[in-house]
Amino acid sequence: MKRRDFIKKTTTGALASSVFIGCNQPASGPAIHTHPTIRWRLASSFPPSLDTIFGSGEILVKRIKELTDGRFQIRLYPTGELVHGLQVLDTVHQGSVQMGHTAGYYYIGKNPTFSFDTAIPFGLTARQQMSWLYEGGGLGLMRELYADFNVLSFPGGNTGAQMGGWFRQEIHSVNDLKGLRMRIPGIGGQVMDRLGVNVQVLAGGDIYPALERGAIDATEWVGPYDDEKLGFYQAAKNYYYPGWWEPGPSLSFLVNKKAWDTLPALYQKAIEVAAAEASQAMLAKYDAQNPAALARLLKRGVVLRRFSDDIMATAQQETKSKLEELATRNATYNKVYTAWKKFKKTSNTWFGTSEQAYTAFRMDCS
Ligand code: CA
Repeated sequence: MKRRDFIKKTTTGALASSVFIGCNQPASGPAIHTHPTIRWRLASSFPPSLDTIFGSGEILVKRIKELTDGRFQIRLYPTGELVHGLQVLDTVHQGSVQMGHTAGYYYIGKNPTFSFDTAIPFGLTARQQMSWLYEGGGLGLMRELYADFNVLSFPGGNTGAQMGGWFRQEIHSVNDLKGLRMRIPGIGGQVMDRLGVNVQVLAGGDIYPALERGAIDATEWVGPYDDEKLGFYQAAKNYYYPGWWEPGPSLSFLVNKKAWDTLPALYQKAIEVAAAEASQAMLAKYDAQNPAALARLLKRGVVLRRFSDDIMATAQQETKSKLEELATRNATYNKVYTAWKKFKKTSNTWFGTSEQAYTAFRMDCS
């Protein structure tokens, strides 16, 4: 571009964006009253009873409405109302709803690479996962994956490190896991299978009855706040930790790319900032609610137990070999796994110093 053309263009642009400053108009882009009224639908994979997770979807739609002066309205549908919770990606892909709120690892059957969008056993903590997605190149890699489904993704909340779950009997060593019937989905379940566990995959509502009548011996779910609501403590008193398969799982808001492209820039920005707020709010809520729920559970006779070093070390080894095996079978997975491993190594080196030394020192619970 010739210099005078450049000046002419930038001057025109500057004029267009600054001419209304001082007249209570935005510094750039058209005024809000000129924007269209748009109504979208968002299918959530979660029920309203999971108020921390489902609630972050509520924060998203409320904030988008406020940011657009009520012109961009999104109706939130709980799992099962429009589609089953595990079909959210397909539904957003097809465009029958414009948005979804889900967990990427529900779709590892389509591509195991989706597990990086949520959680990898012995992987990243919540803070590391956020850092990987927003600053470590992770979100770009995930968006490449979602682009195959005509979808744009945004981080959509995090539960923090989950619990290992509820066991009817004490588990002392890897030997005690052999033949144990446990509800545990995803790659964590595949690793447990290698440790001899008889892995069961049950939907949320079916878990308690199975545990109560002894059809399963153990189950994992989320953490104290959500687990308490499903009543597992009434059927199993041994509450194990840590949930090494989900050290910091993040959820995702999905947007149909074609629908996204039709949005005014202001509405796109509203989705972006509202998703970031909803994401942060979920983790803050879990961190505030879990301590109180844990205290209530302990009062009811629940016994906290840590997985033995034997179980942790063996599970970690099996996880590593499982992840390496997947990398030899899937080129996309291998690309993301290689980048993720590199990130994890440097991130762990940092988090393994001051952060770890601080939290490993006995926390002052007085
Ligand atoms: Ca879980």
